[in-house]
Amino acid sequence: MSHTCHADNCKKEVPPKMFMCLAHWKMVPKDMQRNIWHHYRPGQERDKRPTINYLKATKMARCMVAFKEKGYPEAMIRDQLKLMKDYIDGLFVKKR
Ligand SMILES: [Zn+2]
Repeated sequence: MSHTCHADNCKKEVPPKMFMCLAHWKMVPKDMQRNIWHHYRPGQERDKRPTINYLKATKMARCMVAFKEKGYPEAMIRDQLKLMKDYIDGLFVKKR
């Protein structure tokens, strides 16, 4: 089964446990890379059951790369991502 880079519009093939191709992965800040690996569970690429925190971490990284490619400064993207995260976390709290 083929698996491609998760960055928008990138069709590069990567091993299933790799989230992005190297070029895009390098655009993800170190702390966000660590966050992804922190929530990675070995075997999730086979049983397709990543944790919600892994999905959140990868969504953030995708946004970061997409905005960086459009030329936005990292600090500004982080501000936006933080607002989004606070908003999403708020939705989860309300549901419970
Ligand atoms: Zn890529």
